[in-house]
Amino acid sequence: MSDQELLTHQLYINGQWRAPRQEQYDPAYDPATGQVLAHVAKANAEDTRDAIHAARTAFDSGPWPQMSPGERSRLLHQIVDALEARQGEIADLEMANGGCTWRKAYLMDIPVGLLHFRHFAKLAASEPLEAVPQITFPALSYNFVRREPIGVCGQIIPWNFPFLMAVWKIAPALAAGNCVVLKPASYTPLSALKLVEIIHDTGLLPPGVLNLITGPGGVVGNELCTSPLVDKIAFTGSTEVGRQIMQTAASTVKKVTLELGGKSPNIILDDAELDIAIDGSLWATFMHNGQACESGTRLFVPGSRYDEFMERLIDRASKIKLGLPADGNTDLGPLISASQLRTVENYIKVGLEEGATPALLGQHPTDPELAHGHYISPTIFTNVRNEMRIAQEEIFGPVLAVIKYDSLEDAIKQANDTIYGLAAGVWSASLERAIGVANKLRAGTVWINDYHIINAEAPFGGYKQSGVGRELGTWGLHAYTEVKHIHADLSRTRQARFWYDILLPQIGES
Ligand code: NAD
Repeated sequence: MSDQELLTHQLYINGQWRAPRQEQYDPAYDPATGQVLAHVAKANAEDTRDAIHAARTAFDSGPWPQMSPGERSRLLHQIVDALEARQGEIADLEMANGGCTWRKAYLMDIPVGLLHFRHFAKLAASEPLEAVPQITFPALSYNFVRREPIGVCGQIIPWNFPFLMAVWKIAPALAAGNCVVLKPASYTPLSALKLVEIIHDTGLLPPGVLNLITGPGGVVGNELCTSPLVDKIAFTGSTEVGRQIMQTAASTVKKVTLELGGKSPNIILDDAELDIAIDGSLWATFMHNGQACESGTRLFVPGSRYDEFMERLIDRASKIKLGLPADGNTDLGPLISASQLRTVENYIKVGLEEGATPALLGQHPTDPELAHGHYISPTIFTNVRNEMRIAQEEIFGPVLAVIKYDSLEDAIKQANDTIYGLAAGVWSASLERAIGVANKLRAGTVWINDYHIINAEAPFGGYKQSGVGRELGTWGLHAYTEVKHIHADLSRTRQARFWYDILLPQIGES
């Protein structure tokens, strides 16, 4: 396709598509081929302020925050219907722009994203009032709590699950009655743009309720984090940028939720059923090339079953097939970018220098069809010690660090010895033993005999430096609400008021 024929995407501000003020555009690439897929508006600080202003006006004087929960829920259900009807368009962009394989896009990312959107459409109808237990001291009063939207939410998302992360941000925010400025990652704006295009085409949202700004994180993100008109920042991305965001958002004391990095432990117990635990460990690590925050990239294997486990794990990992994302036979597509590939290659070098054994060493494919993509096959390091960099730092690529253990208590201790605490896996034939281990792990989600299963009804988020707050479930909705206590005194005379005898009895009646 010639450069002129490529689609050019504008900014979405106040219900309209609009060119960026400086008329600058960045290319969006296919990481499997290096081809340019489209041109995407590059917003500057002023464009971002326009979007914030639109969201502020929509919140302060538009109908969305005042709408009844039932009406908001009805409109959000209609939006999910529209997304479902065009889900193929979203899936195709997730493959082309995100390097997501056909099976993952069509069987997981898009249907799961729609399910999660539907979950929040349903929750939007929930009554925002909660009773408070009745009290008679200091006086008889009627008390209740009202959940209200926070206001304008700046939402910043990463490149690894572009559609799902956009849904996790906008669906709960809209369900609770907020107005939104969404900033997708620069590598992967296309499925979020499609999401907003489909919502725009429904005509269901009042102008300014949902705005989308594409552009560099340092400029757009910084404006969102410092603007006094933004009430909340919701960020998913690296721990490093999360730290900066917490600092910049502090100047206006914004509400902040952060979903950050991980280096999650995956613990095989000596009674685990190996067929499932071996494939489960491959799924835990190599799903989407390890480009998932909660990937089980530190694998703890008991000495008593080590040889058998490792032989089969390495054999099966070596059969994982790299290929073009759109090919239904592809297990793993490309990494997102040349720089991510360099990061992975560098960590492989670090692992070798640290003295770990490359039981399986990542290779670049020889297939000429893959020559222009950012491809590398899985690496498995054995003889890893937990203090090594390859066991402590988030690589975000297909690299597994295997740690052999003798005592389960020691494995749990090592599993917790990390700055992160996003997720963990435990594999055992005994649910009682597995729950005992899960209880001791310092992580926001623990999967038993499974991995990467995200439940719309359950909270997701991190302990320690993996984040602040939770997404999904009612926890995810409540993260987009302010809580107001309303107290109504029920006593009839002023003398019956609690405060009357404290301040006013000397004054007498008048
Ligand atoms: P990143 O931190 O580099 O970027 C995330 C987003 O922040 C992007 O949109 C980027 O443009 C923006 N950004 C960059 N600098 C900014 C700044 N100074 N101010 C404001 N915004 C800025 O992360 P990434 O490389 O896109 O994604 C990978 C990371 O995301 C990994 O660390 C992964 O663990 C994490 N992640 C976490 C979760 C979770 O739920 N915990 C989910 C997915 C990804």
